[in-house]
Amino acid sequence: PKPNIDPTAVLIKAYACQRRTPLKHHNSFLTDALEILSQNAEYNDNEGRSVAFRRAASVLKALPYRVKNMEDLKSLPCLGDHSQRVIKEILEDGSSREVESTRQSDQFQAMKALTGIFGVGVRTADRWFREGLRSPDDLFRTGQQLNRAQQAGVQYYDDLQKPVTKAEADVISDIVEKAVRAVLPGAEIRLMGGFRRGKEVGHDVDFLITHPEEGKEEGLMPKITNWLEEQGLLLYQKTTRNSYLEKMDGPARAPNNMDRFERCFSIFKLQTGSERASVSGWRAVRVDLVVSPYSQFAFATLGWTGSKLFERELRRWAGQEKHMSLSSHALFDSKQNLYLRAKTEEEIFAYLGLEFIPPSERNA
Ligand code: ATP
Ligand code: MN
Ligand code: MN
Repeated sequence: PKPNIDPTAVLIKAYACQRRTPLKHHNSFLTDALEILSQNAEYNDNEGRSVAFRRAASVLKALPYRVKNMEDLKSLPCLGDHSQRVIKEILEDGSSREVESTRQSDQFQAMKALTGIFGVGVRTADRWFREGLRSPDDLFRTGQQLNRAQQAGVQYYDDLQKPVTKAEADVISDIVEKAVRAVLPGAEIRLMGGFRRGKEVGHDVDFLITHPEEGKEEGLMPKITNWLEEQGLLLYQKTTRNSYLEKMDGPARAPNNMDRFERCFSIFKLQTGSERASVSGWRAVRVDLVVSPYSQFAFATLGWTGSKLFERELRRWAGQEKHMSLSSHALFDSKQNLYLRAKTEEEIFAYLGLEFIPPSERNA
């Protein structure tokens, strides 16, 4: 039997990048609720509130025990009054009225459905919601103007709603490796995002590509997408060129989670290998491809592993605690006025004065 854990003896650090957050934890009954409120705040364009709820949820994910009463929370960071009220109500009554009414609200459900469409952000979804639209069907019915991404998003909506399994991610890995090998021998390909953190399903599959000889990776993406297109494997793709310049994107620029690598947001046509004639034989899967120069590969790896909150907290730690500026391209030390070079994620954690957290413990 497991020894009982004394909650008052558990020390939880304030930044998510200072602690280990496994994929599976003991408090989903609370974190699911707080994440509903976080998501709702995001739909209402209230980023501060959204992050506050997400941080509170993240602290509970790091606890080695299931929260039983408010006493268990006494020494924990990041739990604001509002989060505590919600937690108290769930502990006492089994659910929170605010969470349940949010979950059931017309606005929340419509925003969830509309932002769930590939190519649709909160702003567009909110505009549609205020015009009375509620679902992808409504967009179709009312003949809304859609850009190319949104058209694909509506067309493949049902497939893209279905979670991507690790097995499917592995099949896509093989395809991407074959494509990259064919157009640039010696290139390195790494599976990123949620699957690198050990998730069993994801909303997409993320890849980072580089080549040990710096410069060889330039202009690589169009070659990869051409190869994939020739094989009939792409349903949609939009490639963006690399626009990173150290002297312009460095310390002077406001820290931003959008990086400037050459990248491709795509939808793959994945054969499902079913023998049954009633099944169409393929499904659509979202795939993100990113190309990084070798000298930035460690930063890109750290930046594309996630979770999103873990990344946000790393950047906040760097800025507030270390006077450094971290991006998926580089780490700049403002006190020394210089860029800190790194070949591995471990070196970056060390520069930041943080204990190394392996990908499987970055599920903040
Ligand atoms: P899921 O299983 O839902 O895909 P995920 O953690 O893989 O979960 P993604 O949205 O695929 O989520 O993002 C993966 C990582 O890539 C995150 O860490 C995120 O910060 C990073 N990322 C995503 N989009 C961008 C972007 N435009 N610029 C920079 N980094 C990004
Ligand atoms: Mn992902
Ligand atoms: Mn992604």
